[in-house]
Amino acid sequence: MTVKEPELIKSKIRDVPDFPREGIIFKDITTVLRDHEAFKHSVDLLAKHFEKQKIDYIAGIEARGFIFGSALAYKLGVGFIPIRKPGKLPSKTERISYDLEYGKDSLEIHIDAIEPGKRVLIVDDLLATGGTAEAAIKLVKKIGGVIIGIAFVVELEFLKGREKLPEDCKITRLISF
Ligand code: AMP
Repeated sequence: MTVKEPELIKSKIRDVPDFPREGIIFKDITTVLRDHEAFKHSVDLLAKHFEKQKIDYIAGIEARGFIFGSALAYKLGVGFIPIRKPGKLPSKTERISYDLEYGKDSLEIHIDAIEPGKRVLIVDDLLATGGTAEAAIKLVKKIGGVIIGIAFVVELEFLKGREKLPEDCKITRLISF
């Protein structure tokens, strides 16, 4: 691994002004995904960080958390659990509502997705205000999972999202703005 890798990932993120609302600068990671080296480095760097830890499941947050989370689950050899927008999961779910940087939303998880006491790493592409991550943590805990940490490719530090997350929740991120 070289120190250049996070910088390569950072250089591939595209700023899209005024999306999805005026005043928001959207950090577009599709330009990371389409670059095979940058995408690979993102997953490899996360895997390197967690390879020695005991993890039973990766829980990825819809939708971009599915992309990095499922690749990471494959690489670490653990199962993947989707945390989805309402109405998408077919079986019985637990639901939670939360505030976004740009609006309100809800998340759901299958109530039987995690056996009590199993060790879960939550993955999303980006930490902004922290509402989504906070909700995902609550959901996983609610159905009996033990959170071993939460990982992001990008953290928007100026939004102070990490302050919303429980103090004992280890936060990992590859790059920050
Ligand atoms: P938040 O709940 O504010 O931390 O928002 C996190 C979720 O919204 C993540 O799933 C991100 O994909 C998305 N998101 C929020 N703000 C941005 C942004 N400025 N650029 C890209 N994605 C964002």
